[in-house]
Amino acid sequence: MTTTAATGTATTTAVRLRGLTRHHRDVRALDGVDLDFHAGTFTAVMGPSGSGKSTLLQCAAGLDRPTAGRVEVGGTSLEGLGERRLTLLRRDRIGFVFQSFNLLPALTAAQNVALPLRLAGRRPSRTEVREALARVGLAGRERHRPGELSGGQQQRVAIARALITRPAVLFGDEPTGALDSTTSREVLDMLRELVDRDGQTIVMVTHDPVAAARADRVVFLVDGRVAGELRAPRVETVTARMTALETETETETAASSKAPASFGTADSSSVTARRSSC
Ligand code: ADP
Ligand code: MG
Repeated sequence: MTTTAATGTATTTAVRLRGLTRHHRDVRALDGVDLDFHAGTFTAVMGPSGSGKSTLLQCAAGLDRPTAGRVEVGGTSLEGLGERRLTLLRRDRIGFVFQSFNLLPALTAAQNVALPLRLAGRRPSRTEVREALARVGLAGRERHRPGELSGGQQQRVAIARALITRPAVLFGDEPTGALDSTTSREVLDMLRELVDRDGQTIVMVTHDPVAAARADRVVFLVDGRVAGELRAPRVETVTARMTALETETETETAASSKAPASFGTADSSSVTARRSSC
């Protein structure tokens, strides 16, 4: 816990990254990232395709092991944790949502949400599940199956499932990436409310300046390094910063013999393909 002298308000760090580095052979997916995510804040992570956003989230969530550096979640260092303790920490302290909602189609919304607790050997109460769905604005949808819900509602079920254990942090890798703009706004409103009303900590990767502008802070990554940040972001300031970063990177790339960085093109899907195969 640290106290800000100017305001006297106490802040707790939900996630601390120090010197976070992840290499894949000669690819420096992450290259010495130092970041703090304070409890009860909403951070967006942006950057060109291939800049290390997904790797950052995966390492911070204990889904991938860094080559070097340190990750602390809720005051616990992930370094040196064995697979079993890491699995428990991930289950109890970390929520993760993906672009694809990853719900089990044969289970109802309530059963999907209850799953993490059941896997932990607990029988969740009906009230607990109902409240988790109510927190994401889905009261009364307990018995619906994913196929009977819209994309936005399915993503809310996935978010309720990620929050049922009351994790220290909710990570989202492009959680609105598969949604149309209206539905995407609904999900973003809900994420914002989780932060403002419940004090949830959220770290969300996005390529959408409208989504990023809902956060308290935007962190920009380029080539696996932090390339700056914006506080109290607005759509215009986020767009301007992204354009500047992309122009800078393109100019640098043209001047060097390095393979060009890609912006929203094919390589991210090939990374996904590689990941899903492991
Ligand atoms: P982003 O999410 O910003 O698009 P990623 O974190 O997926 O970027 O990838 C960062 C870099 O690391 C890219 O150059 C990508 O090709 C590389 N990379 C990611 N995962 C792997 C992997 N499993 N094997 C090899 N290279 C990888
Ligand atoms: Mg990615």
